[in-house]
Amino acid sequence: MKKKVKMKIIINKGDFMTAKLYEKDPYKTEFKADIKSIEPKDNVFHVTLDKTYFYPEGGGQPADKGWIEGIEVNYVYKENEKVIHVLKKEPEKKKELTCKIDWARRFDFMQQHTGQHLLSAVFKNQFNLNTVGFNLSVDSLRIDLDNQIGKKEINKVEELVNDYIYKDIKVETLYPNDDQLEKFNLRKEPTVDENIRVIKIGEIDFSPCGGTHLNSTGELGIIKIINVDNYKGGLRIDFVCGKRALRDFGFKNEIITELRNITSVPDEEILNEVKRIKEELKESEETITELNKKLLNYKTDELLDRAENIKGIKVIKDTFSDIPYNDVQWLSDILTKKDDLICIFGQHDQATARLLLSKSENIKEVNMNEIINEPLEHIEGRGGGNRFKAQGGGSKVKNIEQSVETAYNIIKDKI
Ligand SMILES: [Zn+2]
Repeated sequence: MKKKVKMKIIINKGDFMTAKLYEKDPYKTEFKADIKSIEPKDNVFHVTLDKTYFYPEGGGQPADKGWIEGIEVNYVYKENEKVIHVLKKEPEKKKELTCKIDWARRFDFMQQHTGQHLLSAVFKNQFNLNTVGFNLSVDSLRIDLDNQIGKKEINKVEELVNDYIYKDIKVETLYPNDDQLEKFNLRKEPTVDENIRVIKIGEIDFSPCGGTHLNSTGELGIIKIINVDNYKGGLRIDFVCGKRALRDFGFKNEIITELRNITSVPDEEILNEVKRIKEELKESEETITELNKKLLNYKTDELLDRAENIKGIKVIKDTFSDIPYNDVQWLSDILTKKDDLICIFGQHDQATARLLLSKSENIKEVNMNEIINEPLEHIEGRGGGNRFKAQGGGSKVKNIEQSVETAYNIIKDKI
């Protein structure tokens, strides 16, 4: 039987540069390449190839995903001049491997990234706003600007950017020499000293960048700004480009359609209708609160009628399951504002039982905080408070009556 030998590192891991072909042709989605090195690490395999079209994470653009010999590529990163592909399995073949890029993901990033260049350029050219932050992920695209302008001006930028899209302006990748570079009006400083790569959009933008971009602005389809916030003295702009904009429109259209069906008013009146309903709801809630207060007032009268007189002190005991604990507290507060009164209230729902002991300020006898824990044992609860008012809760709901009775007996003895 042939013995399988597991190699830790195969093929020389010596110094070499991965040919970064994604810089030359970002539209290539399938290619053949040879493995230069494999390093197993934490149950995955870090693989370098002689050349790659896989974009490694960097410059604000996330890494590509895809497949090498049908094995999933989960992440791609750059280390020195090498591009490293993280694979779930070790490929058996070492030469002429079939590599495929997840094109839907890549094209989405190309649309969003190129859209960012164009939007940042127009903010700069029209209103001298610099882009100081950029974030691109599968579900977010945002830039931060270093100063503020009004809504009208922002709308103007959005309209102009979309006009540039309709004009289908060429997007070029240039590698200028120093003399050529000087003539370019770069939107931002390059982050590298040599082999500076400049992305040129017509005469609108010259921006040093290592990412992947579209061939022309027409492929952007549309740019829509979806949110603007004030941020660190500037503006935070969330926007969508291309297919993302289409999905966003679809999502919002669905919401509007549902709202139209629910409210039975035309689109342009939906917003006012929703505001009106919200206002109406607020008024109804206020009415309910008022009525509830009235109901509780009747309840206090009824409780007072039932009070037991023990040596001149009115003792009221009751257990509630039909009103929330907040209301029980409210009842206790209202009742103990009167003189010579003690309340022993139990309350429970499905999961929790609560005991509330309270007395009027003129009563010297009985310290509620000292006596609360013994009755609470029945419901396996603990609690606390002060001389006048103590409360606690526990989980043994069915024993709440016993808690109330125990508290009543202790209090009766102390009066
Ligand atoms: Zn770029």
